[in-house]
Amino acid sequence: MADKKSIKRRDFLKLSSTAMVAGLTGRLTGKPQEENTTPYSIEEAARRVGKLPLVKLGYSGRQVSIIIGSGDLAEAPREAGILCGMNYWHKANKWIQTGTPDSILKNREAHYCQVTVDRVGGDHYVGRIDEEKHYTYVKEALRRTGLGYFDDMQLHYGYHNTDELKNERGFVRAFERLKKEGLVKHLCLSQHGYAGNSRVPGGQSAAKILIAVVEDGIYEHAQFMYSYGADPNMDKFLEFARKKGFGTIAMKTARGIGRMKDDQAFMDKLPAGVSPHNALVRWLTTRTKLDTVVMRVKNLDEFVESYSGAGKALRSREALAIQMMTAQADKTACRLCTECQPHCPQQIPIAEILRFERYAVDDHDWDKARKLYAKLDCKGDACAQCGTCVSHCPQGLQIPDKIAAAHALLS
Ligand code: SF4
Ligand code: SF4
Repeated sequence: MADKKSIKRRDFLKLSSTAMVAGLTGRLTGKPQEENTTPYSIEEAARRVGKLPLVKLGYSGRQVSIIIGSGDLAEAPREAGILCGMNYWHKANKWIQTGTPDSILKNREAHYCQVTVDRVGGDHYVGRIDEEKHYTYVKEALRRTGLGYFDDMQLHYGYHNTDELKNERGFVRAFERLKKEGLVKHLCLSQHGYAGNSRVPGGQSAAKILIAVVEDGIYEHAQFMYSYGADPNMDKFLEFARKKGFGTIAMKTARGIGRMKDDQAFMDKLPAGVSPHNALVRWLTTRTKLDTVVMRVKNLDEFVESYSGAGKALRSREALAIQMMTAQADKTACRLCTECQPHCPQQIPIAEILRFERYAVDDHDWDKARKLYAKLDCKGDACAQCGTCVSHCPQGLQIPDKIAAAHALLS
């Protein structure tokens, strides 16, 4: 209970204003999440999900599963995913730590494995792009994973702005050298938003940079944050990407769902028989212009609940649930658009703080949230409560209150 005591009561109540207290207080002890409550075997879980539809990803026209996997996916859902035809692996270099699964190695050609490459000499705000170091890292990752080659080489977190995309070609050169050696095949990036970020001079929004990436024509596909709720800038990018044949992968899609599930009053109002994650996957895979989605699941229960919606029609009851979830998320969970940040006189990294709050409150990943928050140079206690940011938030979030509550929660 020490964690709970460290949160000022006023801030805790603000954070809890949507009746999430019951669920959240249970999480504050930092106890690990419960493992499976339903004893599915891997085969049974795979049978319940069925074959995942295949979709075309990017200029190469590769057929990839409509939900892709990740190198940090737990063993049981990973193996069930393979049985369902999951064939693209984001962050395959994570297998350096855990060992590459035999199920992938023994059928290497059936899978697309991606190496995710970070900036060097600092984090994604201040680190630099460095041709030689990226080249060396990928070779070392190949040696340690035993994969033989990576299908995709991804610039993790992406560019800070469009000038950097045009003028800093070190990552592209590293890719070209590795490609000549037959060690990588396709170039991609994940893109975060940097507009108004005090640690990134000249930072721009993810949507602006992504449109420039498509125009540039060198990258084949991109991964970015996307969820329900109107986001005209990202929708414009998706439209453009689809027209040009550029591949799109959504991440961080479950905006606010963790806190919704902890709010029994909200859950009671959802149409009978609808699970938020299942409705979300139906919506993402049938009603958007996305190609594919990466979605974290912790165990086979979550695997079945979420992935069984892949490519399935959004029926009227799920459509209603998505409407309700959008309205609820717009009141409580930041969409990470960074629209507010350039207007903050204190240069508070609002979207970063609220992204970490999502890790804690929605994913219940307290360790990750607190560690990331601790690394910020400018934290929520620098907020002057001036309110300037509020009118720039498309969701109308009470940002000063949320920042204060997040600071209390994550400090
Ligand atoms: S209220 Fe806080 S976060 Fe918003 S603009 Fe003012 S100082 Fe920045
Ligand atoms: S607080 Fe509002 S404007 Fe700022 S990043 Fe979140 S959703 Fe966007």
